[in-house]
Amino acid sequence: MAQLTFWTGTMDAGKSTLALQTNHNHAARGRVGRIFTSHDRTGGAHISSRLGLTHDALEVTPDFDFWRYTVDALTRGSRIDYFICDEAQFYSPEQVEALAKVADELQIDVFCFGILTDFRTRLFPGSARLVELADRTEVLQVEALCWCGKRATHNARTENGVMVREGEVVVVGDVEAADEPHADVAYEVLCRQHHRRGLTAARAKAVSLAPEPLPFG
Ligand SMILES: [Zn+2]
Repeated sequence: MAQLTFWTGTMDAGKSTLALQTNHNHAARGRVGRIFTSHDRTGGAHISSRLGLTHDALEVTPDFDFWRYTVDALTRGSRIDYFICDEAQFYSPEQVEALAKVADELQIDVFCFGILTDFRTRLFPGSARLVELADRTEVLQVEALCWCGKRATHNARTENGVMVREGEVVVVGDVEAADEPHADVAYEVLCRQHHRRGLTAARAKAVSLAPEPLPFG
């Protein structure tokens, strides 16, 4: 039986690296796969890992139909044994449901990789649906660390160096808006305590250099 598996972890946990490794392992055994991504950090339709590995990928746009794509490909005589689905947090719940159907009805293994929660600590809708539907949800064992050394469990977004808790869920890379000044958006992983306090590495450094101890928290 084909399976739907969801690998999750914080941003620096190495999900894209594992996605590319998984593809390599299956391809090396002669299996044929398709690789998908959405809003990759470099902006192109490929998977790129922080370790420098890259691979071409198909971009999952909001109207992309996994079921139709797969049925069309199989009808044309293509062979597909597995899907690698990176940045799966950006997929819609409907797209995740289609992936489950592809696994069940077409016997294609689906390996999804994505972040669980956004910078507001809320579940991404696509990730929530994956947790609900996946045969297995695995938390990556390569643990990202907060600046304090504790396990980083939360994703923070900073704009111009200041941590923010509200805004559009999907802001990736340099999204230039023509008519408004462009904030410098970055992401950082933190432990829950420092996410709650909004204490990023930069702010912690500034606080530690301040002459008086500050009552933060
Ligand atoms: Zn911390």
